[in-house]
Amino acid sequence: MTSPQMVRLDEHLQRLRLNTVRERLEALLQEATKKELSYADFLDGLLTEEVSAKTAKHVTMRTNLARFPFIKGLDSFDFGYQPSVDRKQIQKLSLCHFVEHGENLVLLGPPGVGKTHLAVGLGLKAIEHGYRVLFTTAAAMLTTLTKALNEGRFDEKLKVFTIPRLLIIDEIGYLPIDRQAATLFFQLISRRYERGPMILTSNQSFGSWGDVFGDRVIASAILDRILHHATTISIRGDSYRLKDKLKSGVVKPTTAGA
Ligand code: ADP
Ligand code: MG
Repeated sequence: MTSPQMVRLDEHLQRLRLNTVRERLEALLQEATKKELSYADFLDGLLTEEVSAKTAKHVTMRTNLARFPFIKGLDSFDFGYQPSVDRKQIQKLSLCHFVEHGENLVLLGPPGVGKTHLAVGLGLKAIEHGYRVLFTTAAAMLTTLTKALNEGRFDEKLKVFTIPRLLIIDEIGYLPIDRQAATLFFQLISRRYERGPMILTSNQSFGSWGDVFGDRVIASAILDRILHHATTISIRGDSYRLKDKLKSGVVKPTTAGA
């Protein structure tokens, strides 16, 4: 990197923040000479490397911002173990048209059947498609919003949950929700209604959401908005956590044939 031209190129690339090209320029130039690449092919290869590196960086950054509880893609989901989950339906959802159209996805089922795994897997797909994603549990979100309300910062905090294109609310129904928190939940759902797609997971059937929210009227207002444009997947079957125990006969299947 000694000729004045190479020094100048290096400065330009630095200024334009084309860091990958900057690192790879010498090698790419040598390769182009060796392979006698056309100008267009050389430029194509050069820019493809920069775009791939920038995309990968972007995906990593957005994945960190999404605050997933674990990183597991759909490729590690064993559809054979959970026949009530239709692989084709999940593949279709992974194209993220539902995110583009502002629709919701609700995953219902008992603990351990893969609701969070599927939500994370689809969240990762949404990030690959360029969307901003935030993962939260219902309990964590409501604690944050209740605290914000008490501190007079509710509107400001609500934005945390309304700005990301896709909001994943996990574990609705594991912990009881008091009346005030139910009202805050309703406000969030209203704010995102028909604009912000969500993935919601629950171990409780819709019929029990009145008990989850401690108020039938609020629960039905919440459900009305969520389900207006939504796909619901009910997962039946055994907990994946018990897989090995079930195999060895230590535990008997609880939901076989359900
Ligand atoms: P849920 O949210 O329904 O309680 P999780 O998604 O947390 O269940 O699943 C529990 C654990 O089992 C996770 O580590 C998850 O990755 C794994 N798991 C669940 N179902 C499957 C599956 N069908 N294939 C592979 N791993 C699975
Ligand atoms: Mg879960």
